[in-house]
Amino acid sequence: MRIKWVGYFFIGFLAFLLIRTTFIAIVMHREYFTAATEQRTTLIPASTAPRGIIYDRNFFPLTAERAPHTIGYVRGGTGMGLQKIFDNYLKIDDLSFLLTAGLAVETAANGTPIAPTATLFRSASTRKGVHLTLDYRIQEIVQDALSARGDSGGAAVVIDAETGDILAMSSTPVYSPEDIAASLGSSGGEFVNRAIAAYDVGSLFKIVTTSAAVEEGVATPESRYNCVGFTSVSEHVFHCNNRAGHGELTLAEAFSLSCNIPFFEIGTELFGKGKNLYNYASKFGFGERLLDVEMDEAAGNSVRSKSMAEIANTAIGQGDFQATPLQIAAMIGTVVNGGKRVPLRLVSGLIGDDGVTETPYSEPRGEVRAIKPKTAETIKSMMLEAVQSGTGKNAMIEGVDVGGKTASAETGWLGDDGTTMTHGWFGGFFRHKNTMYVCVVLAEDGKTGSGSAVPIFSEIGRGITSM
Ligand SMILES: [Zn+2]
Repeated sequence: MRIKWVGYFFIGFLAFLLIRTTFIAIVMHREYFTAATEQRTTLIPASTAPRGIIYDRNFFPLTAERAPHTIGYVRGGTGMGLQKIFDNYLKIDDLSFLLTAGLAVETAANGTPIAPTATLFRSASTRKGVHLTLDYRIQEIVQDALSARGDSGGAAVVIDAETGDILAMSSTPVYSPEDIAASLGSSGGEFVNRAIAAYDVGSLFKIVTTSAAVEEGVATPESRYNCVGFTSVSEHVFHCNNRAGHGELTLAEAFSLSCNIPFFEIGTELFGKGKNLYNYASKFGFGERLLDVEMDEAAGNSVRSKSMAEIANTAIGQGDFQATPLQIAAMIGTVVNGGKRVPLRLVSGLIGDDGVTETPYSEPRGEVRAIKPKTAETIKSMMLEAVQSGTGKNAMIEGVDVGGKTASAETGWLGDDGTTMTHGWFGGFFRHKNTMYVCVVLAEDGKTGSGSAVPIFSEIGRGITSM
């Protein structure tokens, strides 16, 4: 009798399980599948069209929300960024995709697949995509730090100096990926990727000038100069930022305090010896596009100056010379990498339909020896000094040694308040957990580098060192 009841219980239990399983498989499958998919890929927004994924270095999906200018968008044949560049690759032919994904596809007598109705499965199980060097977490830190200036124009780039991998690249103001039309009507330049646009760079060019001076034996960090606030070159008067003059100081002190006088003298002396600053600039990567992918990247302006006076002006970064924040990052990366410029990389490979197979995207490019290791070490020490006791003081990050250079670049553009715009810059480096990070921040109309770009740099540095 008891055994019979146990039997009934089992049969009842099995029936319950069967009904429940059937209910899950037939009625609830969409919800369960979506939930499971969302657990794996919470970052992918629901998409109506099946499309490949853009992955970060650790295979987290990256959307335009996180990196609007780099990821970009495609709408009705137009667009920008990687979504536009890789549009053909990311597009998915519905039927062939379903076959590769291993889903049941009904076929006609001649073998032609008949489109199934399981539309939910398509975009959800797509694994094909583009694998980037960007790091989702760093991109988030950089984007948030840069947004602190609201809708002001700005850019920030983080690279791994030793591998050349671009870890983050941000630009403000941002367009709304959810409402492209609204941003298209705006005059704020939301679609300009400022990280790869050309700007006046001001004192950051002194890294090139100092490298050339040390390499050519024209000066050492201990060389002494006297700043009385101005100097004249070929009957042109050039001023220091400090009109009262810094007095007697070494080259290292001038670099650290952003005094201009030694650099005018170095520029003219190199020019007199037939040594051109632009040769050094081009070895650092200026005047060429550095990305491994065809984006709207500016090459910058590295036109050769003709006269002694023009060279003097260029030596402090106030001539026609222009460069992108990405190029500045490559220059600092070269300095901290022993004078060797490693090619930058944004796209590491294309991921096949199986979601695993990766093919390299571009041919490996060679490294460039820009300056000797000893020269690089000297410049690096001067950049460390500039943060220890110079204009970059507030760039210090607890627990790591930071080196860097501030710049305030006069542009000649008129700002909203009718005064001439001066862009604030900071380019610096620090080592954390075996990675040598280089971070460059540009703050359009930021007046001074120390007041506008340095706080953003330290915010990014604090974020990265607490990762
Ligand atoms: Zn001075």
